[in-house]
Amino acid sequence: TKTILLKNRPKGTPTIADFEFVTEETNLTIANGELLLETLYVSVDPYLRGRMSEAKSYVPPFELNKPIHSGVIAKVTASKNEQFKEGDYVSGMLDWKTQQVSTGEGLLKVDPSKAPLSAYLGILGMTGLTAYLGLTQIGKPVAGETLVVSGAAGAVGSVVGQIGKILGLRVIGIAGTDEKVEMLTSKFGFDAGINYNTTENMVAAIQQAAPDGVDIYYDNVGGTISDAVLFNINKFARMVICGAISAYNNTELPKGLSVQPFLVKKSALMQGFIVSNYAEKFPETMKQLSGWLAEDKLTYTETVVEGFDNIPTAFIDLFEGKNTGKMIVKI
Ligand code: NDP
Repeated sequence: TKTILLKNRPKGTPTIADFEFVTEETNLTIANGELLLETLYVSVDPYLRGRMSEAKSYVPPFELNKPIHSGVIAKVTASKNEQFKEGDYVSGMLDWKTQQVSTGEGLLKVDPSKAPLSAYLGILGMTGLTAYLGLTQIGKPVAGETLVVSGAAGAVGSVVGQIGKILGLRVIGIAGTDEKVEMLTSKFGFDAGINYNTTENMVAAIQQAAPDGVDIYYDNVGGTISDAVLFNINKFARMVICGAISAYNNTELPKGLSVQPFLVKKSALMQGFIVSNYAEKFPETMKQLSGWLAEDKLTYTETVVEGFDNIPTAFIDLFEGKNTGKMIVKI
């Protein structure tokens, strides 16, 4: 069995040296009520960076020298739990281990005949829930309005933009390479895209792409990109603060533009969003997302990295923008 532990709390950008790889001979056995799982796909996500530091947040920090865990798709290889049988596929928050024993608590069965297994870590998992619930619950979209999405070619962002189109919005995405920006319009149906790495004047570029101003801003990145969007907000705009990846590796508190004057001048609403606040809406949201997927109203893309040992590298690569769509590790 292979396991990946958190060795050090990363300072700034995480490095491979912050992780420890352990291989041991194991002969895992299960007691009554337990099941044995073989890991097939592992989700790496920006929020894991927060759990690697000591700071208190909405989820407790990972412990040093203990396995890291994240969303995993696994196959049941043996079961003494009547809710699961050998050969079932499950998703859940599981350890970065090639195989492990579980009580079944928190595991959901997933059906590979309805969607590829990895999709349950993305569009049919936390990614899809985050995109839909953040946009609808806080963004409160009204057809005809203009939506700007940052981190637009990533897992959450690419879904937010497509849902925006289904709901009748004008959608503008911000991403970090020309290839990603091209994909926003060609694959995901956005109305326009902006490459923040090559655009000198972001305020002017957003103004040009959103001539009627910005009614909803779905923010995945924070920092100067968000400052430029805020220059362009309309009266009663809603800002969904879903993530701030540009700040996750900061070692000091950033000094930025103070957004308060914009919020006052435009009577705008800015609200932090955590997907788990809306757990009671997960079943209906999953139904909606699978329906749209089956009707081809939604699509998705993945960046699949192969090999258990590459989980930490795939995670670190999120901060370099090496993924388009959901970053997944196939074991
Ligand atoms: P993504 O698939 O979007 O991957 C991260 C992307 O962020 C990269 O591909 C990169 O794209 C972009 N990025 C990296 N560094 C920077 C930077 N310094 N400035 C601007 N962009 C950067 O990840 P997810 O879709 O999984 O997550 C997106 C956001 O949503 C994250 O902030 C995450 O923490 C948050 N989130 C929040 C949840 C909640 O409940 N609040 C739940 C799930 C996710 P590019 O090439 O365009 O730079």
